[in-house]
Amino acid sequence: MIAAAGVAAAALICLDPGHGTPPAIGRQTEPIGPGSHVLKVKDGGGAHGEAAVALAIAKRTRALLLARGFRVAMTRTGPTIDLPDGDGNIARARFCNRRHAALMVRIHADGSSDRSLHGASTLVPAWHRGWTDDIYGRSLLAGRAVQKAVVAATGALDRGIVRRSDLTGFNWANVPAVLVETGFLSNPNDSRLLHTPSYRQRVARGLANGVSAFVGLPR
Ligand SMILES: [Zn+2]
Repeated sequence: MIAAAGVAAAALICLDPGHGTPPAIGRQTEPIGPGSHVLKVKDGGGAHGEAAVALAIAKRTRALLLARGFRVAMTRTGPTIDLPDGDGNIARARFCNRRHAALMVRIHADGSSDRSLHGASTLVPAWHRGWTDDIYGRSLLAGRAVQKAVVAATGALDRGIVRRSDLTGFNWANVPAVLVETGFLSNPNDSRLLHTPSYRQRVARGLANGVSAFVGLPR
């Protein structure tokens, strides 16, 4: 059989639901970037209930993306992570790198001691020579597209784009990467919403819309 000429393979989107590392492994450390002596815990555990919220939203996002013709890979599909490269954020990045993902979408929820804080933000890699210089521009474009789409789909307060230099999962990524903080689990209203199927679906629709917008941008 001969592959149809001119038909591009569907883009692969890597979904990375945050946390879900067994605590004994999560407390282990790993270098924050290639060649770095700065070590960071593999998984601080996240906000209370975050791992389950992130997974539920990721599964809904996967269904929407598959329906739109994307290919999807997920770093975890169950409550705990189990990757061949190990269980930290380096492993999550490598999982997406190896698949040459068009975009790595890390799905999280925020927590704060200030219970009034609410809304959604999207984190993108800060520019760092040798670590993120290859993915900085595309990640920022993706972050803007995803943040805009999530806010539009959910009506959440737009907390904007945040560049982060300290995230292991960004610094080891060789594919464009964004991390969406879908709301604050420490805020009573955000938390209530993030535990309803209808709001999770709205977040997922926002994520899928943002991915579609980004992948459709000229390269
Ligand atoms: Zn998190």
